[in-house]
Amino acid sequence: MIIGFDADDTLWHNEDGFQASQREFEALLAEWGDADTIEDRLFEIEMRNMPRYGYGVKAHTLSMIETAIAVSDGQANAALIAGIIDMGHALLDRPVELLDGVVEVLDELANLTLMLITKGDLYHQLARIDASGLKERFWQTEVVAHKDVATYRRVLGLHGVEPERFVMVGNSLPSDVLPVMALGGRAVHVPYHVTWSHEQHTGDHDAPVIESLSDLPALLTDWSIR
Ligand SMILES: [Mg+2]
Repeated sequence: MIIGFDADDTLWHNEDGFQASQREFEALLAEWGDADTIEDRLFEIEMRNMPRYGYGVKAHTLSMIETAIAVSDGQANAALIAGIIDMGHALLDRPVELLDGVVEVLDELANLTLMLITKGDLYHQLARIDASGLKERFWQTEVVAHKDVATYRRVLGLHGVEPERFVMVGNSLPSDVLPVMALGGRAVHVPYHVTWSHEQHTGDHDAPVIESLSDLPALLTDWSIR
């Protein structure tokens, strides 16, 4: 069996940084709208831009700039735009902080074949994989643009992994759980304490949900995988 791991909000913290940055962004634009208005407008612009930019901090930064121009009706000045660019740099430069228990769990599973599959900015994610100190623990690491059924089919096919022999572990139902189950693989949902609106999903699924990655080894034992 091959065990796949998501990275953002599964192995290391990510969304909490985006949410803190969003509060800062709302404060920066407070004279042009309340926090909910700014948040809604940013989300709408990010979703509209996603086919152009994909996921990640650089896309988010460009959408913040576009939002500032839109909500201020063109009044946002260069100093304000520079402030937004600084916020993007701060997110890119944020040190990789592993979730509690990650190293211990990977130690415990060291006799299994592990993959890391993450989406987002290629350059930023490669840098985070290096900075995490975890790279050597994975048989393969893949940075992909989307995590949909076609992507999992391609990536698993590339490495000769049958979906029936694959378990994906991650915090996102639409990105980590549902597409892998649709392919005939197994998945484990490990929710993070905050979820980006775009990754929220309320549909039915029968994947097991564990509270923390530390519960994964016991689950894999129950499944006779280890
Ligand atoms: Mg994730």
